[in-house]
Amino acid sequence: MKVGIFGGTFNPIHYGHLRAAEEVRERLGFSKIIFIPSGNPPIKTRELADAKERYNMTELATAGNPFFEVSDIEFKRHGKSYTVQTMKELCDIYPDISLYFILGVDAFLDIPNWWQPERLIAIMDFIVISRASFRFIDLLSSPYIHADRGALERLDEGELESYSAKLRSNRDILAMRVPLLDISSTEIRRLTAAGKSIKYLLPEVVESFIIEKGFYKIES
Ligand code: ATP
Ligand code: MG
Repeated sequence: MKVGIFGGTFNPIHYGHLRAAEEVRERLGFSKIIFIPSGNPPIKTRELADAKERYNMTELATAGNPFFEVSDIEFKRHGKSYTVQTMKELCDIYPDISLYFILGVDAFLDIPNWWQPERLIAIMDFIVISRASFRFIDLLSSPYIHADRGALERLDEGELESYSAKLRSNRDILAMRVPLLDISSTEIRRLTAAGKSIKYLLPEVVESFIIEKGFYKIES
């Protein structure tokens, strides 16, 4: 059984996340995708909705998909929460399941700035998906990946749909094209703060929830 783990701040969750997760699930035949909204950071910022609320929005957004699940593993944790810790816990909970960490090119390139990145790279297999403004060839700047430049270029050109490579840790990484939906949570927060419409960028239930709760209204 193969399961995708999709972590993020989901502040808020939007159609870019949802469609990418659905594409990965269907094309790779995954049994499910587990969304993991991050917990509260030690210092709160006005722009970041409370972990419980981001969890609620993720639940609302995924309720209609029987293959999507939301985990409270990070938002229920007290104190600092690190991805490597979460992934280790999940590996322990599901010892007989192949877990794949799904993330965009932007997030994968940010891993060197995370807590214990080498350990994270050693315990997980990865699926790296397209993200607007980033190219797969950018992955060559990652210290963790052994990849063929030509193959990454062909992915960027659309001549390849996916490309399977190895991490230096010897774990697997699959770079996979998904249709580019140029949507970001940052842009949704910016539009909300400016009093503009966020319709069709995210599910209507999440849009209504944001309006009802008054999230992201103040420009920071
Ligand atoms: P922010 O603008 O606040 O950073 P975001 O839209 O990037 O928000 P995150 O919660 O940071 O969303 O991202 C969680 C994961 O989803 C990351 O791995 C990111 O690369 C991926 N992701 C975000 N938006 C998209 C999108 N439009 N298409 C594909 N992947 C996405
Ligand atoms: Mg982001």
